[in-house]
Amino acid sequence: MSELLVLVDHSGGQPRKISLQLLAAARAVAGDLGVDVAAVWLGPGAADAAGVLGAHGAARVHHWDDADAKGFVTVPQVEALEQLVAAVAPAGVLFASSNHVKDVAARLAVRVGGGVITDATGLAVDGGALVATKEVFGGDVITTSRVADGALPIVGIASNAFAAEEVGGAPAELVPFDVTLSDAARTAPVTDVVQQASADRPDIAEAAIVVSGGRGLGDASGFSLLEQLADLLGGGVGASRAATDAGWYPHRYQIGQTGRTISPTLYLGAGISGAIQHRAGMQTSQYVVAVNKDPEAPIFQIADFGVVGDLHQVVPKLIAALEARRG
Ligand SMILES: Cc1cc2nc3c(=O)[nH]c(=O)nc-3n(C[C@H](O)[C@H](O)[C@H](O)COP(=O)(O)OP(=O)(O)OC[C@H]3O[C@@H](n4cnc5c(N)ncnc54)[C@H](O)[C@@H]3O)c2cc1C
Repeated sequence: MSELLVLVDHSGGQPRKISLQLLAAARAVAGDLGVDVAAVWLGPGAADAAGVLGAHGAARVHHWDDADAKGFVTVPQVEALEQLVAAVAPAGVLFASSNHVKDVAARLAVRVGGGVITDATGLAVDGGALVATKEVFGGDVITTSRVADGALPIVGIASNAFAAEEVGGAPAELVPFDVTLSDAARTAPVTDVVQQASADRPDIAEAAIVVSGGRGLGDASGFSLLEQLADLLGGGVGASRAATDAGWYPHRYQIGQTGRTISPTLYLGAGISGAIQHRAGMQTSQYVVAVNKDPEAPIFQIADFGVVGDLHQVVPKLIAALEARRG
């Protein structure tokens, strides 16, 4: 039976949360496509993950157990996938819509004659073809797209678009494959990997809740208020470009067109106007809450719940209410 491949993003031997969400996305369409769901694991560690991948619906895991997979920038992963695609002729490839994996996906598409769709929030099958939906223009428009006939669909799924769910499958069958790397694949070694996410807060790309601050905070100290709120909610902290450009918060937390793309279940923006470039990075959030003193602020156009008011009064009250609820 043909397969829908799910590229597993993993760290420390564990699949990241998004990878389990990708398996849920794959399961949602595998039946209609008439295919099996198969995981792809690049690098050492697949054997230890076979249980969790199977429990989330992967029938098998194709794995290339070689440190080179992550020892060099991007290209070994592209070449591994290219060779796997040639060997198994999958019905499609799903990947996590992060910046790094988008880079892999784009290069793979060029090599195998595929078409790439990124940041999909929904998947369906229409006339036997994989169809992806995504939100654009700040969520104002929902597009439905498919790759051209004959091209391999390579589809990036936004974080939290699908809920990871254990379906009680047996451990995924381990299917090793060999990869012949070109010399070019070994030209850019990874010399160091620095974990930038705060030790105590989830990474904003994966967090289910993100509290985000903008110029309306007034100065850098406003972020301590947001960090307090985020910690009570178990969320991450993001920022608008105005806030990061002002040096109030590190650039790696910038959300938007020239920052990170996030897709939490809940996005709370305080003192953020909702410029189109900011919305480009958070428009797939499931619920948007905005606190802004200007009732005309564009963020309210996409907010599910809005508070018109001074964030320096509203956010402390929210924190107090959450603390009181905690007891
Ligand atoms: C090519 C390009 C790329 C860009 N990329 C990005 C990007 O990736 N991410 C990004 O965010 N921006 C990006 N921008 C910038 C973007 O256009 C906006 O300038 C930026 O998002 C504005 O940030 P802000 O909402 O924090 O500030 P502002 O637009 O100044 O909004 C501040 C808001 O705070 C409100 N406010 C003020 N005081 C209070 C208070 N006490 N309580 C409550 N509300 C208050 C105001 O009413 C206002 O709505 C980009 C721009 C360009 C041209």
